[in-house]
Amino acid sequence: MPDTTAEYQATIGLEIHAELKTRTKMFCDSLNDPSERHPNVNVCPVCLGHPGTLPVPNEEAVRHVIRVGFALGGRANEMTKFDRKNYFYPDIPKGYQISQYDKPLIEGGMLLGVRVRRVHLEEDTATLAHADGASLVDYNRAGVPLMELVTEPDFRSADEVTAFARELQLILRYLGVSDANMEMGQMRIEANVSLNMGTKVELKNINSFRAVHDATEHELARQEEALRRGEKIAQETRGWDEVKRRTVVQRSKEEAHDYRYFPEPDIPPFSAANFDLEALRAEVPELPAARRERFVREYGLDAAMAEALAAEPAMADYFEAAVSEFRTRLPEAPLLTLYHYLTTDLRGLMNQAGTAFDALKVNPEHLAHLAALIEEKKVTSRQAKDVLLRMFEGGDDPEDIVRDEGIGVTSDTDEVEAVVLAVIAEHHAAVVDYRKGKTASLQFLIGKAMGKLKGRARPEMLREIFERNLTA
Ligand code: ADP
Ligand code: MG
Repeated sequence: MPDTTAEYQATIGLEIHAELKTRTKMFCDSLNDPSERHPNVNVCPVCLGHPGTLPVPNEEAVRHVIRVGFALGGRANEMTKFDRKNYFYPDIPKGYQISQYDKPLIEGGMLLGVRVRRVHLEEDTATLAHADGASLVDYNRAGVPLMELVTEPDFRSADEVTAFARELQLILRYLGVSDANMEMGQMRIEANVSLNMGTKVELKNINSFRAVHDATEHELARQEEALRRGEKIAQETRGWDEVKRRTVVQRSKEEAHDYRYFPEPDIPPFSAANFDLEALRAEVPELPAARRERFVREYGLDAAMAEALAAEPAMADYFEAAVSEFRTRLPEAPLLTLYHYLTTDLRGLMNQAGTAFDALKVNPEHLAHLAALIEEKKVTSRQAKDVLLRMFEGGDDPEDIVRDEGIGVTSDTDEVEAVVLAVIAEHHAAVVDYRKGKTASLQFLIGKAMGKLKGRARPEMLREIFERNLTA
């Protein structure tokens, strides 16, 4: 919670990296395939850093970053360039990383009230594995396009940090530029944490939203305690110890790198205007915030429902397709039944079976038909669950299932009345109890009748017919 009266005001800025989804790598035509399990398959002399090779920027990656910039309200630079960031480590085969220093592709922008300083392009590093005293290097990831977004130090709490990071993740997914999976390292968050814009500590190598949140909160508390004791905050990089639940030093200022940035001589500066900026702007789809707002306005959902749908684009698309079919049947009916059957019942079956939306046999039109059958009281909610299970297994239209299996609610009052009279005759004791005032007995009798009718009656109709016959 932001607290502007506090003596120690949290001041936090983020640096967020995301691996971009492109066919090939940032500066060569080796494949960018994060699913490749065999090491050192997607490599070539360029991404292995052989002398004499030349980098050629990947235009798809440039377009992705411009899309991100536009989605956040930033500007694409008239003049942008690449720079070499020099350091020596086995994960960086050339001895430098090609990044962007003073002329990033994108400057400015805003998300959830936080100012975006810049978004630039660089290349990812190789991955290292340490085993049996040896270090192994896999260059499949070396040279994969990486975007880096830097914010101003506008965050005032750990909650604001994770809200921003989650929203950015969703935007990257809506744009289709990154899968941005934190656990898979496709999105990495570094939090620069200080109090009152004092000396900042950089929190690094933390790979879940939860951990970023907790680490930030603990770091703020640690700094406040230190300052209250009259100590100085050391400028350093810290990680998060999940077990001890505290931040721990990884690197102090003395060990900090001097990257000796200088312009990449093998790639001429260029203008973002060389790309069709108006076309790229037009390609930015409806973003999560707009989608939530529209779901509330057009579909009458509450904010939490709209949020849940927008957070899962595949489910949101499915819902919209189902709504469009549902409304051709019942233009005025509320959409809550449809929403619940999708997000609870169908979702539950999918989770159990491990089915994703693109492999789902139930199509949106069929789910809409089921919701319409329920809404029109042609099937009870108990029957609907069975029908949905059949739909899930076989992909049939619920209308066919209901017709072929003789499922459905009977509107034949004579049939229901006959069953009621039979139940009354068979359960004399319950009838006597009910007449003595034991209302629970009525529920028992309704249950018996419902059983005989195999669930094909509306409970209200049964109750009414029982009451009429029992008080006669
Ligand atoms: P540096 O030059 O040390 O790398 P920058 O000014 O480039 O610092 O900022 C890097 C990140 O740190 C940005 O996200 C920025 O918002 C954040 N930042 C800068 N100064 C502070 C501070 N005093 N407290 C917290 N975050 C800060
Ligand atoms: Mg950086």
